[in-house]
Amino acid sequence: MIHPVAVIGAGPFGLSTAAHLRARGIPVRVFGRPMVSWRDHMPEGMLLKSTPAASSIDAPRPGHTLRDYCDAAGTPRLVTDEDIIPVETFIAYGEWFQRQLVPELEQVRVVSVDRRGGEGFELKLDSGESFTARAVVVATGLDGLAHLPPELGEAAADGPAPAGPVSHSSQHHDLTRFSGKELIVVGAGQSALETAALAAEAGARVRVVSRGRGRVAFGAPPWGQPKFRPESPFGRAWSLWALSYYPHPYRYLPAETRHHLVRRVLGPLGAWWLRDRFEGKVEVSEVARIDRASVSGGRPVLSVRTLDGSAGELAADHVIAATGYRVDIAAMGFLGDALRTELAVSRGTPKLGAGYRSSVPGLYFTGLPAAASYGPVMRFVCGTEFASPRLAKHLAAAHG
Ligand SMILES: Cc1cc2nc3c(=O)[nH]c(=O)nc-3n(C[C@H](O)[C@H](O)[C@H](O)COP(=O)(O)OP(=O)(O)OC[C@H]3O[C@@H](n4cnc5c(N)ncnc54)[C@H](O)[C@@H]3O)c2cc1C
Repeated sequence: MIHPVAVIGAGPFGLSTAAHLRARGIPVRVFGRPMVSWRDHMPEGMLLKSTPAASSIDAPRPGHTLRDYCDAAGTPRLVTDEDIIPVETFIAYGEWFQRQLVPELEQVRVVSVDRRGGEGFELKLDSGESFTARAVVVATGLDGLAHLPPELGEAAADGPAPAGPVSHSSQHHDLTRFSGKELIVVGAGQSALETAALAAEAGARVRVVSRGRGRVAFGAPPWGQPKFRPESPFGRAWSLWALSYYPHPYRYLPAETRHHLVRRVLGPLGAWWLRDRFEGKVEVSEVARIDRASVSGGRPVLSVRTLDGSAGELAADHVIAATGYRVDIAAMGFLGDALRTELAVSRGTPKLGAGYRSSVPGLYFTGLPAAASYGPVMRFVCGTEFASPRLAKHLAAAHG
């Protein structure tokens, strides 16, 4: 029997897409661990940078926003821009959304996806089962895409690891392990700055190493936002408004511009509420670049070029690379070789057309892998509002 649709992923994008497909009456099998990126790959005690208005998972019918969850759970509503969302609340919201709208979720991994002649796709699960689906939606989010810059690679010869000299920020949930230790955090984005603040609060001596002058910066609080610019889920600015509400034409921009905007827009800037927890508690070293990371006496050492051009060294007990995620089809090991070869890509990311379809008929991508085609909003939960109804509509028309 051929199953109509398989959705791979049970984070915000996978759950939202599956809910929209179900609402259209399309039988769908959904795979993945609900909200696992948030539970296992972000630090305990983290607060969301996105505001409540930008943190609902899009559903096909009313009653499933973050505010609805707060009401159902009997907790105070998180609604204004000054309400900050604890990650634990957001995880509970996602799990509630899943129980309500995607109750048939199968918590297994998809091991491989291959083309099956002219008839859809063959999927293998780690339960040992194989089955065929007419269409596949890839919503695997951050999984496997953590990026370690090559200059840090020498000190992480066996791969980044919390117990080794260098790790990636996605490998940490409990930062209390650094209590009493010297820690370097590389990066200047929200993840770097919040990881540094949380580790300092847990008793570590923390230094953030950022490339360039003045890169460690914090956004304006809600009451300090410019008044005469349109509102968007990310603050008041024309550019943010256009990218949030009109991602349609994004994929027609030149490739260079698209890839640049995905990296830079809504990029390295700490949340307004983090400033007081960071300044005076975390050291900052601004460098022109990091040349290499080595290990001396069991401790990682960063060889850096300072802003005035001289050479310097920074050492600690451990280095966390809060250096983000890079989409690369080659890292999505579950996609079969033939499928990956057939996919049209631009710098490792799938080229998507209308309705989030890839160049392989029946294969769709949403969330982070769709950002190079539909813009930076796809990196955030609020991107589900644009993506999920459109993907479901296209898929229903083409394969439903
Ligand atoms: C530190 C940090 C803080 C962030 N803060 C915010 C924020 O405040 N607001 C915001 O909007 N965004 C934030 N983001 C971005 C956020 O992570 C993404 O918007 C969101 O998680 C993307 O959802 P997703 O469904 O695409 O993927 P994910 O949430 O990463 O979920 C991936 C899913 O895929 C499944 N999966 C992967 N591979 C397989 C496989 N082979 N078989 C079966 N299942 C598989 C996993 O089990 C999981 O269910 C943050 C990211 C980081 C790293």
